Formats: sequence, structure tokens, C-alpha cells
Amino acid sequence: MTADKELSALVAEYSALRRKLHQHPEIGLETIETVSLVKSKLGEYGIQHEDIGVNSLVAKINKGTGDATVAFRVDMDGLEMSEVNDFAHKSRVEGRMHACGHDGHCTSLLAFAALLQNMEFNGTVLLLFQSGEEGYEGALRVIEDAFFTKYKVDHIFGYHTIPGVETGKIVVHKGACMSSEDRIDIQITGKSGHASMPHVCNEPFAAVADIIKGLQSIVVRKIPSHERGVVSITQVHGGTLRNGIPDSVMIQGNVRTNNVAVQDLIEDNVRNIVSGVSTMYGVEAELEYDRKHPVLVNSEPDLAINAARRAVGDANVITDMESSMAAEDFAFFMEHTKGCYVWIGNGKDSAPLHNSRFDYNDDILPVVLGFFSEVVREIL
Ligand SMILES: [Zn+2]
Ligand SMILES: [Zn+2]
Repeated sequence: MTADKELSALVAEYSALRRKLHQHPEIGLETIETVSLVKSKLGEYGIQHEDIGVNSLVAKINKGTGDATVAFRVDMDGLEMSEVNDFAHKSRVEGRMHACGHDGHCTSLLAFAALLQNMEFNGTVLLLFQSGEEGYEGALRVIEDAFFTKYKVDHIFGYHTIPGVETGKIVVHKGACMSSEDRIDIQITGKSGHASMPHVCNEPFAAVADIIKGLQSIVVRKIPSHERGVVSITQVHGGTLRNGIPDSVMIQGNVRTNNVAVQDLIEDNVRNIVSGVSTMYGVEAELEYDRKHPVLVNSEPDLAINAARRAVGDANVITDMESSMAAEDFAFFMEHTKGCYVWIGNGKDSAPLHNSRFDYNDDILPVVLGFFSEVVREIL
């Protein structure tokens, strides 16, 4: 077979496999069947692999005598939502769907494993199939299981399929690519009592109102206008009676930014506002400020840009797109080594990510394979 025919046979085989995975989404760290499918395909090629983290897997392909190593990481988990598509490969599991394209991410790395069999390189390629990206800390479980001790990882690369960008295009950010995510939990405690006698109570709601107003002023008043940040209040719970003042009220919020200095500034201001307002009203405030995900900052964008240009041509590499305010746990790997996370166009007309009509576009598989191959050529 010619190289072109071989590639189209590979694309056809793995597109079919992707549609099979799409029908059977698994959630969070419970990617048991998906991992078993990955293992059986790797077994067909005789590729060495081992379990890591929780239902994640590392495959290792070594050629020549070079000691440089590059890792490629994909995620595998679906989402707890119902699919409304009516095509044949629609999810067979009610209340679960692959609405973030992780079915495609997973199969594209398997197809790359197949491609690597016939590719010349000098060194080691690691293929990391990760569970639990959608808020289940799958990356942290892999790192805690000594990923960076068991393996020498000189570089790590990853991608996300991206709706609204034409197929055939690759987006590389020179710096921040995905945002941090911080979680705020505030418990405001006063003194409960009858609604008709507020003077003998210490009602918490006035403090809650001022805290919410204060938090919402941080982005517009405290962050320089050329920087980006989001502070959202997402839950307020308190009270059970119409005629009673409760003891306490709980506030939850979510903070995003693409700059660590802005993240520090937001946290400082949250702490000042909560402590200042609670002192003013004489209520107790308990604040938990949890930095859940770091900012994902690309440390090797030039390497990715070179690889992308060779894979799809200069005109198809976008380097000036705004970073996303969504978080991505690939950021944890980037705290340990160098690398880059890119976006690969899922098509102009693609449904958005996490939408009940989303579907990974199988036409992008050759783009992914081309990009990964050029990264290997660049490093090994
Ligand atoms: Zn997602
Ligand atoms: Zn995703």
C-alpha cells in the first residue's frame, strides 16, 4: 500500500472505533471499558504499557539509542448529560455522552500508536491515556502515582478539538492557553431568631449582600483593564423559615484568569472583602479559597508552531487567538515539564463543547496524526 492509502485505511479504522467509543461513554475515573479497549488495541501492536493513576494507562515506544522522551496525553471520560443527536453512533447510555470529544482524543492517540510502528525516530514516545479530566483530578492521580519518577518526560504535548475553528487548522497560544479555576466557599454566621425581633439576632444576609457586591466589583475595579478575570457567585444558601432569621448563610463562587499575578490579586481581594465586611457587621466568616486548577501556560509554543506549520501549512496555523476561560487539568503536567497544549479545529459549524449535539469530527484525525508526527520529528 502507498503511504496515502495506508493513512486513509488507518483513518477509516480509527474513525469506526471512535464511533464505537462514542456509543459507550464512561464518567470520571471509571473509564474501565475504555481502558480495556485501549489495552487490546495496544496489544495488537505488541506495544508495552502499564496502568497508572486511576484507570489511566501509559504506553511506551522506544526506538534507536537516543535518550530524549516526548509524551502525548489524551483524556477519555464523557459527561453526565443526555445526547440529542439521532445518528447511528449516538450514545447508548441514557444520561451520558461524549460531549467534549474525549472519545476522539482517545482514538486519535491509538491511531498514532499504530502510525508510530512504521515511523523512524530516535528516542522514546510515551502515550498517556488519562481518565477523569472533567473535574475528577485524573491528571493529579497520574502524577501522584509517580508518572514523573517512573518515566523521564522531557516534553509533553496534548490537544483539544475546538468548535468554531475550521477543520485543518491548528491553534497555538504563545503563553497562556487555558485558565485557572479557583473555588470559593464562604460561611457567614450570625445569630438566629424571630424575624420580628432582628435587634436580638445578628442576621447574616446584610453581610452576604455586601460580600457579593464587593466580590463582583473586583474584576472591574481591581484588575487592570488589559487583563482578564472572572469572579462568579454560583450558589447562595441560607434560611428555612419565612419568619425566622437563620444562623448562617453559605456562598459559593468560581474564579478564572489566565495570569497568575491576576489570580493572586483576586485571592487577596476576596480575603480582604470577606474579612472587612464580616467585621463591619459583627458576623463570623469562614473562607476557603481553593486553587483547583493552575493556569495552563505553554512553555514550548515555538516547537508546536513549527510542527503545526509542517503538518498543515503556515496559513493554517493560528497564533493570535484569545486563550480560553475554561480550565484543563493538562496544566498540572505543565508544572513538571516543558510542552504545549494546542487546539485543533472541529469545524466552523460544530456544536459547542458540552452541548447535547456535540460530536468529534472524524475528519480531523489526519490533522492530529500529522501534528503529533511532526512533534516527534522535531524532538526525536
Ligand atoms: Zn469538557
Ligand atoms: Zn474536554
